[in-house]
Amino acid sequence: MLYLDNSATTKPYPDVLDTYRQVAEKFFGNPSSLHHLGVKAERLLTKAREQVADLLGVSGQEIIFTSGATEGNNLAIKGAAFAQRHKGKHLITTVIEHPSVSEAFEQLEKEFGFEVTWIPVNENGIVSPADIQKAVRNDTILVSVMHVNNEIGAIQPIEEIGEILKNYPNIVYHVDHVQGVGKVPLNIKKAGIDLCTISGHKFHALNGTGVLYIRKNTPILTLLSGGGQEASIRSGTENLAGSVSLAKGLRLAFNDYEEKIDRLINTKNYLINELEKIDGIIINTPKESSAPHIINFSVPGIKAEVLVHMLEEENIYVSTTSACSSRKKGESKVLKAMGKKSSITESAIRISLSIGQTIDDVKPLIDVLPSSIQKLKNIMGL
Ligand code: PMP
Repeated sequence: MLYLDNSATTKPYPDVLDTYRQVAEKFFGNPSSLHHLGVKAERLLTKAREQVADLLGVSGQEIIFTSGATEGNNLAIKGAAFAQRHKGKHLITTVIEHPSVSEAFEQLEKEFGFEVTWIPVNENGIVSPADIQKAVRNDTILVSVMHVNNEIGAIQPIEEIGEILKNYPNIVYHVDHVQGVGKVPLNIKKAGIDLCTISGHKFHALNGTGVLYIRKNTPILTLLSGGGQEASIRSGTENLAGSVSLAKGLRLAFNDYEEKIDRLINTKNYLINELEKIDGIIINTPKESSAPHIINFSVPGIKAEVLVHMLEEENIYVSTTSACSSRKKGESKVLKAMGKKSSITESAIRISLSIGQTIDDVKPLIDVLPSSIQKLKNIMGL
């Protein structure tokens, strides 16, 4: 099997699964309980929090565990907007965000009277910091920009935007860092980020685990009221085994980081070179400023889902743009925002690599792709 859908989700590392199992068996106490089983669980949770904080270069008090990035993004965006609604009702985001961001903004706009400015992208899928600067108003309270786009891999200028926003103390700066973790470095403190979302299952930890970084003193209203866990921002009995195994996954993601990224870039460059040689393929991922694990390409005339299933027959797993938007149907809004025609958006395929994948690992795709495309072209009379 050749699994090339790692931006949708990754296979958990055996060490992550071992950690999960051991914690679930040995530390089943509720971290809020007063007896020693609770105290042991609470200590382990604090340790996991400190480990995550160290790896991200922030403080443990600034980390809360969540059920993943959909929750993290909703909590960050709605929480920051509601907490600051007395200061203003203007929000800024981009047209290429993940639905867990864009739909949160749409809801704030349609149902709660906020006004949203949607920043466009250029032909490479990249937002201009100058456009963000132009959009800022006296009543702007929140700016949210993703780090790495999940469909095409474009890296956004997070630090430059952060520099601009440092001049506006009333604006909370949120970054969806989900696709960047372990692949594209991000210095959260240096970039002046107030809220930063990550998700465990994108770096070989488990589905249903995540982290929200909340810079000290950032205004945020809780969306989950209850027993006061996670600094009263996210109540609910903690997912201890999930959080400890997320910390493990994050540590593994940052181990030998540079070596792994170099290997990944080699694999990506090899794939792009080989794909470019195949008749009819157009690469949509920008050459500059793109992440080492995502390649998006189109074969105009061939519907993306048809090619996905054809490759599946060869035991190769890729995706149509992103798993999240594929369920909602419709064309990729990211490619559309980049100005691509429907022949490109309808046929767009996303390959997303796992951190360990080498050139040898991905060769089977290049071996079968030309003949799969030719077969489909013949069937369709192209
Ligand atoms: N943001 C981005 C950029 C993503 O790629 C995803 C997952 N597809 C999410 C948010 C949502 O993450 P989760 O699956 O953890 O809810």
